[in-house]
Amino acid sequence: MTGSVTAQPVVIAMDIGGTGMKCGVVAVDGPVLHTERHDTLASRGPAAVAAAICDIAEQLAGKARVLGQAPVAAGVAIPGVVDEVRGIAVFAANLGFRDVPLRDLVSARLGVPAALGHDMRAAGLAEARLGAGHGADDVIFVGIGTGIAAAHVRGGHTNSGAHGAAGELGHIVVRPGGLACPCGQRGCLETIASAASVARRYAEATGRAESAAEVVARAVAGEDAAGEIWRETVDALADGLLTAQALLDTEVFVIGGGLGEAGEALLGPLREALAARVTFHRMPRLVKASLGDTAGLRGAALLGLDALSTQ
Ligand SMILES: [Zn+2]
Repeated sequence: MTGSVTAQPVVIAMDIGGTGMKCGVVAVDGPVLHTERHDTLASRGPAAVAAAICDIAEQLAGKARVLGQAPVAAGVAIPGVVDEVRGIAVFAANLGFRDVPLRDLVSARLGVPAALGHDMRAAGLAEARLGAGHGADDVIFVGIGTGIAAAHVRGGHTNSGAHGAAGELGHIVVRPGGLACPCGQRGCLETIASAASVARRYAEATGRAESAAEVVARAVAGEDAAGEIWRETVDALADGLLTAQALLDTEVFVIGGGLGEAGEALLGPLREALAARVTFHRMPRLVKASLGDTAGLRGAALLGLDALSTQ
């Protein structure tokens, strides 16, 4: 070695979903340097999926080194129940994982510190530190997609709960005795306000199959049926957020996920509905998420960096 050339330190980051894996190389000072996507192929079984995650992490590290980068840590985000302290994928239905020590598998393969996190909490962490919640000390990220989930980030760290199951905002009961939810309860927020529920309720009311985004567009355009579905959706969300605010007194709700893409068509009426409900509560700010579908990957990288700094 002759040189004074210093390799750029990077984090290997992976956001594992039931159908696809977003993978990347992220500079320790923030920028995403490289991304690629792989099929999860969950049907091949949990051992094969875990092995594929390790293989891809190793390939990413190899690509980084060729470019003069030095992988110093790794972060992996997955859905389901995650024991973040022990780095274990406790249960993930769509990956088939049961008690997979994924953190240690990845760390051993790469020879660097690694972290395992929950995908929604990782996304919330990224939005809080780098995205729409930047600058606030207390942030609740709400992802509204097929389901609804939240992540509470305080002081730059997420609250996972005692059993790794915190943040199930979608299963707050907002309509007691209401529609049956797959979780076993009735009247959960998710049964009304998830993107899937918006589309389903519109189809039931009109006989027309439209996406949730289309229902929002029709509501904005003044269609009565869509407008009614959308008002019910916003009211249910406001009821859910009011409960979260009573419990956690946050500074800002960052609204993301597919339905969050509606932006002000959602945030405008949601602010009004929440403002009409608050009594003693402090009215939080409501803002649109800014990192899109890279939030999980960015959050996984942050978790990897945190593992490096605390080792
Ligand atoms: Zn439920």
